[in-house]
Amino acid sequence: MAKGKINVSVENIFPLIKKFLYSDQEIFLRELISNATDATLKLKHLSNIGEFKDEYGEPIIEVKIDKKNKRLHIIDQGIGMTGDEIKKYINEVAFSGAEEFLEKYKDSAKDSGIIGHFGLGFYSAFMVSDSVEIISKSHKKDPAVHWKCDGSPEYSLTDAKKTDRGTEIILNISKDSKSFLEENTIRKLLKKYNRFMPVPIKFGQKEISKKVGEGKDEKEIKETVDDIINITEPAWTKKPKDLKDEDYNKFYKDLYPMNFEDPLFNIHLNVDYPFTLTGILFFPKIKNDINIQKDKIQLFQNQVFVTDNVEGIVPEFLTLLRGVIDSPDIPLNVSRSYLQVDSAVKKISNYITRKVGDKLNSLIKKDRKKYEEKWNDIKIIIEYGMLSEDKFFEKSDSFSIYPDTNNNFYTFDELIKNIEKSQTDKDGKTIILYASNIDEQDSYIKAAESKGYKVLLLDSPIVPHLIQKLESKKENISFARVDSNSIDNLIKKEDNIISKLNDKEKDKLKNYIEAVIPKEKYTIQLEALDSKELPFIITQPEFMRRMKDMQQSGGNNMFGSMPEIHNVVINVNNDLVNTIFNSKSKVKRERLIKQSLDLARLSQNLLKGEELTSFIKRSFDIIK
Ligand code: ADP
Repeated sequence: MAKGKINVSVENIFPLIKKFLYSDQEIFLRELISNATDATLKLKHLSNIGEFKDEYGEPIIEVKIDKKNKRLHIIDQGIGMTGDEIKKYINEVAFSGAEEFLEKYKDSAKDSGIIGHFGLGFYSAFMVSDSVEIISKSHKKDPAVHWKCDGSPEYSLTDAKKTDRGTEIILNISKDSKSFLEENTIRKLLKKYNRFMPVPIKFGQKEISKKVGEGKDEKEIKETVDDIINITEPAWTKKPKDLKDEDYNKFYKDLYPMNFEDPLFNIHLNVDYPFTLTGILFFPKIKNDINIQKDKIQLFQNQVFVTDNVEGIVPEFLTLLRGVIDSPDIPLNVSRSYLQVDSAVKKISNYITRKVGDKLNSLIKKDRKKYEEKWNDIKIIIEYGMLSEDKFFEKSDSFSIYPDTNNNFYTFDELIKNIEKSQTDKDGKTIILYASNIDEQDSYIKAAESKGYKVLLLDSPIVPHLIQKLESKKENISFARVDSNSIDNLIKKEDNIISKLNDKEKDKLKNYIEAVIPKEKYTIQLEALDSKELPFIITQPEFMRRMKDMQQSGGNNMFGSMPEIHNVVINVNNDLVNTIFNSKSKVKRERLIKQSLDLARLSQNLLKGEELTSFIKRSFDIIK
């Protein structure tokens, strides 16, 4: 038996590290299984190059709980270590790694996010253990050895009886950490960190049913088999040409077992220069509440789960995607804010953005119809990307499409070509009409369409921001919602309809109306429209309304306190307006004006509460 003192300068690192890592204790299992995996893959490599001549077999890693003795075992059949190797790799490498860790993170240890990602390696076993043992038999001829240490620099090293190749790590779990002796806890951790690791991980056994025999003799029998936790060759480690849609969908289900919908499509990532990255991103169907759908992308390093927070690694708009990214080149022992300025990470982020753009491009080229059918489910991500990433915006012309209210889709260029030449404002800018809610704005849409105008349906919440951006980037266009006053210009231009009232009469009518409708809330605008047009139409100033919308969906607060001002367009050629004008009774005239205004407000959803109640009552009285 040998006893010795590990040569480290910081005495008793153990209690310190234990304290620092309290919240991230669970990573010890990930670290030990990573070591076991490395040891197995190293042996595989030696076997492949002919340096290891014995049978490689089908090595697995086993995790075992011994509740009675309060021990957790992690057993591999990998390369193993000789006594000298343990002295070198464990006493020196692992302990100096821990020391380095402590030096580096003494001050920032409270920023716990970074700690879990720092490879503390083997030493992390001491976070949950009173003492740790290694029983290892090297793949070489050397006899097996048994190392034991309680985290202080003292250790013991003796011979061991183990005859089969590999390493067994035994953790004598401490009282504070006894939850790690619970099957559920360990299973959860294995599922979280090791679900896609390359060497099979056995955790207990399970019963499966199996069919045997044929025809009449067929029967089901129960069989007990090893419970293997992981999928050793997850889809992202394979080549796209070896995968079918079903394989991608199956992988998606493995990743998100609680999700019942298939993804819309996927993007298989694979680069080795200037950085190494593999992965698969999925476009899910996006539901309205985008916040709860964020942060589903899982980050791996060599098939070991690291985190599902990819903030700073992919651009914000892509955090709505699902899937995995596996890259050893993403520095994890740094803070998130540093990630955003790290040039390697920037390159990765740009690469992913470009890949997403390329995929969208190829999808729309390959099958435009199918792409259009998916548009409603993917538009939020694309619009969000156009808004937040200039590079993506520049690319988006080919794959960003705009539906009209009749479900025809146009790219931006197609749209401009399809809009009537006459659809311009007084400065000659092309006006693009849009509706944001097909039900609420029905009467305006119908009115615009009856004049031959094309109306887009742009109904996602960030549209006010997006059209603002389009107006600033594209030349000579301006957006106007169907119920905005900007389209009055269009209405007027239509033809030269003769007014039924002359200017003097119009003034008189205006006075009548202003006696009933408060000037502070409404701007009265008399127009000679077609007699079939509605008598009273409420419109809103496009700019003001858009600013309010933008503020609602997150933006500046400047316009929040502004009073709502609406326009009332009064069609002087409509019969009802004429009745109002010619009415001899002041009471009747005022009642008609009030009722007309309320109807116009009702159609814009502006009539609420007490006003709505009294309107309904009044209307019943009228038809009585
Ligand atoms: P790292 O894995 O980052 O090198 P660790 O502290 O986890 O650091 O481990 C130190 C070294 O101990 C490893 O590099 C490896 O050589 C050796 N080692 C650890 N666990 C095993 C194991 N299960 N089998 C063989 N060697 C191991």
